[in-house]
Order: sequence, then C-alpha cells, then structure tokens
Amino acid sequence: MNNTQYSKYLFNKIKSLTFANPGVTRETYGKGENVTHKFLIKELKKFSNSVEIDYGGNFLALYKGKSKKIIVIGSHLDSQKHGGNFDGLAGVLMGIILIKTLYENNITPNFSIGVMGIRGEESCWFPYSYIGSKIAVGKFDKKLLHSLVRSDSKKSLFYHINKSGFDANKVSQGKVKFDLKNFKYFIEPHIEQGPVLERNKLPLGIVTSIRGSFRFRDAVCKGEYLHSGATPIDYRKDSVVAVSSLVNDMNIYWEDQLKKGRDLTITFGQFFTDFEEHSFAKSAGHVSFCIDVRSSSKAVLKSSKKYLLSKIKRIELKTKTTFSLGKETNSEPAIMSKKLVRVFEDYSKSIKMKPMILPSGAGHDSSVFANFGIPSLMLFIRNKHGSHNPKEYMGIKNFMTVFDVLYGVIIKKL
Ligand SMILES: [Zn+2]
Repeated sequence: MNNTQYSKYLFNKIKSLTFANPGVTRETYGKGENVTHKFLIKELKKFSNSVEIDYGGNFLALYKGKSKKIIVIGSHLDSQKHGGNFDGLAGVLMGIILIKTLYENNITPNFSIGVMGIRGEESCWFPYSYIGSKIAVGKFDKKLLHSLVRSDSKKSLFYHINKSGFDANKVSQGKVKFDLKNFKYFIEPHIEQGPVLERNKLPLGIVTSIRGSFRFRDAVCKGEYLHSGATPIDYRKDSVVAVSSLVNDMNIYWEDQLKKGRDLTITFGQFFTDFEEHSFAKSAGHVSFCIDVRSSSKAVLKSSKKYLLSKIKRIELKTKTTFSLGKETNSEPAIMSKKLVRVFEDYSKSIKMKPMILPSGAGHDSSVFANFGIPSLMLFIRNKHGSHNPKEYMGIKNFMTVFDVLYGVIIKKL
C-alpha cells in the first residue's frame, strides 16, 4: 500500500472499530480508546525498533536515528461521545506514516523518531484536560486519581486505569517511563477545529500558541422565587437578572480587551432555571450556569478572573442574590517553539506552499509538553464542519500535503 492508501485504510479501520452511530466513541480508558491503542501498537511494531507503554497506558514507538535525541510526533486517541474520527487520531497516524516511509526506504534520520499515542485528552469523560500527557511527564496530581469519576460509568480514574491494564499506583507516585530527557521536540499534527483554513482554502496551519483557560462548570446564583405581579422591583431577588447582568458585563469587557489587542474568549455555555420550581408568574430564585474563559496570556487570564469576581460582588449587592461558582478547573496557556514555527514556515514557502500562521483557540496536549520545557509545535490540518461532531471531515489530500511538509522538514531541515 502506498502512503495515501495506507492512511485511508487506518482511518477507516479505526472508524469501524469505534463506530457509534452517528460518529465514533473512544472513551478515555474505555473500550473505544483501548481498542484503538491496541490496533495501532500492532501496526507500529511493523516499522519501529520498540514500542513502550507507560504506567498510564500512553504508548511511544521508537524508530532509531543517528542521534539518541527523539523528535516525538503524537496526539490523543480518545474522542468525544459520538465525535468525529479525525480529532486526535490524525496526529498519531501521521507519525505512523512517517516511520513507515523511513522504514520502507531504509532511511536513518538525524534524530530518532517517536510516535506517541496519548490517553485522555478530552475533558468530557473525566472533567479534566490532558490526563495522559500529564501522566507521561509525571505531572499528574495524584489526588485526582480518586476524585475524578468518568461521566458514564461513575467509577474513578484510578479504577479505570487499572481496569485497562495499567498501574494507577505508579501513576500516583509520579513515576515516568519514557526517556523525557532525550525528547528533542514534540510535534502534534491535528485537524483545525475552527473554520479558518477551510475558508482560506489552505491545507496547513502553523500554530504559534495554545490558549489556556479557567472554567467554572457548576456555578449557581441563588435569589428568591417571588410573585411576578405582587413583588415590586426593590423587593426582587431575581437570579435571571443577576446572571444576565454578569453575561452582559463580561461581554462588554471581552470586546474592550480585544480592542486593546489582548487575546480572550468568554463563554457562558449553559444557563438554566430550575425546571421544577420556575414559572412564568415568578421571578427566578435559582439559575445554574457555567463560564469558560480562555486566553494565550497568563496575565489576561488573571486580570479577567479578578474582573469577573469584582463584577459578581457588585451584582450580588445590587440584586440581593448570592453567587457560588463551585469548583474551578484550569489549564495553562503555552507558547510554541519559535524556532520550529520558523523552520516549518520557511520550508513550506520553499516548496511553494503558503501556510497560515495562527494561534490555537482550543487546548491540546502540546501545551503540557511545551510547559514541561520540551520545544513543541502544532501543525493544523484543514478540516470541514468543525470538530467534536460526527460531520467533522478531513480530506486525505490535505493530510498528505501536511505530511509532505513534516517529512521534508524532518529529513532536510532538522
Ligand atoms: Zn483533539
């Protein structure tokens, strides 16, 4: 099989193994993710010198080069529930195609090549991002092994890691299996999850930074249910008014930050009154909502949180309501290696290809490796219909174009 045929075969094979109409389901430390890892490890054994599996079930296949230093190509292999087939999988398959090409042409590259399949990137299974990559670098907070429970099974992460055949005790001790000190670069090819490349008809995006975030997934505002006709405005304790003011204020703040040239997104993705108690003839005494704030700057995240908290205090006083934001989860923003951005940009131009240089709005495993100190880069592949849905679509032609750039850079420029 040539590379295009083999890529199609792998995408289709994994789709059929994890098909869940509509789309695919590869749950973190569940059937879909486990079967994907198992199949790809079997494939990788055909072209690599070794395949190592760490205590959290991430794999690293190694193809030896002239140097012990390793360029790792990798991404995650879990998916959303009824998600798309390309999110995550594309990055690992590109790594497999790379070492297949080296193996079949008997090429020894300057650096060794690693292909990494990462566990648990999507935060829909356990309410936490980058589980696998944090385990891989020994930075996983052990308290979370018992406190995080999977959304479908209600069983702990500790349980699921062991159930899948790995060693949650070693994970809790922060034990690392991979040879991290020899990781020269971490490169993550990934479908673009926004519309920019598709609109500009460009196959490749070179990512400069990855946004970090802070989130309150279970925030509530409590007021009082009061008669809509009989309660004058001064006596109201209206939760809908309170949270609406907050949404409005935060949107004005967001626009203002953008005008100042700062990177930011603010989203209130859920906003609902209590189905049991709400009524058209009552002002609402309870609103549940969530907040998701993202930026590529730590300072902007910090100042936005400060602004949010001060706004809430004022709204509480004005509306006689009480907010409780609940548990906060967050992730660090990350800057991609400037050197790698430049090398990939120059090489693309040298083969008469125009890449798009852009930040990543969504979070990715690369941010964990970058913040761990390994120079990292993401390559976005053009993709249609967004991501996290069954309609997500990446054409094989665009995949192969990005592969050609990756292959060219590794053989000729690194
Ligand atoms: Zn992804």
